[in-house]
Amino acid sequence: MYKIGNIYFIAAVAVIGGALFGFDISSMSAIISTQPYLCQFNQLGHNEKGLCLGPTNDVQGGITAAMPGGSWLGALCSGFVSDTFGRKRSIQIGSVIWIIGSVIVCASVNIPMLVVGRIINGFSVGICSAQVPVYISEIALPSKRGRLVGFQQWAITWGILIMFFICYGCSFMKGTAAFRVPWGLQAIPAALLFLGLVFLPESPRWLCKKDRWDEAKDVLTLVHGKGNPNSPWVHREMQEIREMVEFERANADVSYFELFKPNMINRTSIGVFTQIWSQLTGMNVMMYYITYVFTMAGLADGSENAVLLPSGIQFVINVVMTIPALLWMDRWGRRPTLLVGAFFMCLWLCVNAGLFAVYSRPARPGEFTSPAESMAITGAPAKAVIASTYLFVASFAPTWGPVSWTYPPELYPLRLRGKAVALCTSANWAFNFALAYFVPPAFANITWKTYVIFATFCAAMFIHVFFMFPETANKPLEEVEEIFDDTKPGAIKYIGTPAWKTRNTRNLTLKQEHNDTLSSEEKIGLEEHAHKETTGR
Ligand code: BGC
Repeated sequence: MYKIGNIYFIAAVAVIGGALFGFDISSMSAIISTQPYLCQFNQLGHNEKGLCLGPTNDVQGGITAAMPGGSWLGALCSGFVSDTFGRKRSIQIGSVIWIIGSVIVCASVNIPMLVVGRIINGFSVGICSAQVPVYISEIALPSKRGRLVGFQQWAITWGILIMFFICYGCSFMKGTAAFRVPWGLQAIPAALLFLGLVFLPESPRWLCKKDRWDEAKDVLTLVHGKGNPNSPWVHREMQEIREMVEFERANADVSYFELFKPNMINRTSIGVFTQIWSQLTGMNVMMYYITYVFTMAGLADGSENAVLLPSGIQFVINVVMTIPALLWMDRWGRRPTLLVGAFFMCLWLCVNAGLFAVYSRPARPGEFTSPAESMAITGAPAKAVIASTYLFVASFAPTWGPVSWTYPPELYPLRLRGKAVALCTSANWAFNFALAYFVPPAFANITWKTYVIFATFCAAMFIHVFFMFPETANKPLEEVEEIFDDTKPGAIKYIGTPAWKTRNTRNLTLKQEHNDTLSSEEKIGLEEHAHKETTGR
């Protein structure tokens, strides 16, 4: 079978899995208030104007949460699927499951059918969202790894944007086509993902783990050696993977529980917290509930649809502001990016908390529709709330958004990577699910203090990253292993090299990869770096 070796093409196909994730996030937002939907899944009867009232609040909560719930489960199971069948196969399995789920959701005639379809769709997204970063990070060169895995985040943002506007557009259709069309259309990218993957190579690291050395070398030759099996980079990668696989076989037990053993628990907690913190930034308050915020800021103007356009703008900002990370993330390094993101998000959340605390008044009974729309703010402070909300999205998009996907796969040894990343991604979905529930009652009960809670989380994540998250940018995955090696002189037991002492060594590694001639100073620098990494001095 003909295989394509261009790494950008490989990443472009694989991240369609990320777009499915985005669909997952915005697939309900513009539909749940439309009459065709409310009438098809009606439980509450009709109001005095004869309009359908739809499902009860609790049931609607269950319908919405079925997808993140399924994703949580899918992410957890994905480690097993990926280690057994391969990275590429697991993503293909995910895409087939998505198509099945989409058909059920598109055809659903009652609430149980809708919920089952959404759980199946979610399951698929759980698999893809966990295994696409593993696949890409195992096949990409270290110097491009951040950018390529970051494409997953970009695909997520595109998925959110496209689905939001498709749902919005279809909401003007007559009859059940208003929701059947978008939910049916979403099967198409999954079919493309499945077909595209047929022409992509399997992860060389997974192949080696399964003792398929020759195939692994072929893949490295195709992807990194420009067809030359004797290229020094192919040789170096093969050597490193071989050493790692042999070392792991000789030394380690390979069960799931290893993630919780003393020598691994530090990494497990860092990876899991990367995803938990990315949720606790409060980004999904903006993604799911932006219409509440903008209604409180007076943009609704008497009609529910009026807030959809400004809401759409934040999805565009999300897409556009992810681009700088794709271009420069490997240059910035992971630590600075996370620290800067946490700082600015904390700032904008404090600004919003302050504005609402000082300038808002409690909403009058009947003024707005949802109890979550508990305050009203007008004039210049309202404009400042909108600006600060957009700035918040612009701060998440180039920082925690992409890095939360790039970083976890870089932390773990090969034998555990599939399972470990699955665990991290499932933490993302568990918190996603919880926040989807927690935020509306929080706005209803503690109003602006909801922002204070998220600002506090941002401050906490800043401190956590500073002290515990080591730099992994541009290091071969096997070299990252050494950071966590607590047998090195100077290492702290179970932590290895202290996080704040780790650096991004981009330029030198990059030159070396391309076999550029290094100046004598650069050679010394690189040797010093290698020496430091192995001895800790
Ligand atoms: C997060 C999602 C979020 C999205 C927004 C992702 O990294 O995991 O929960 O909705 O970014 O762009």
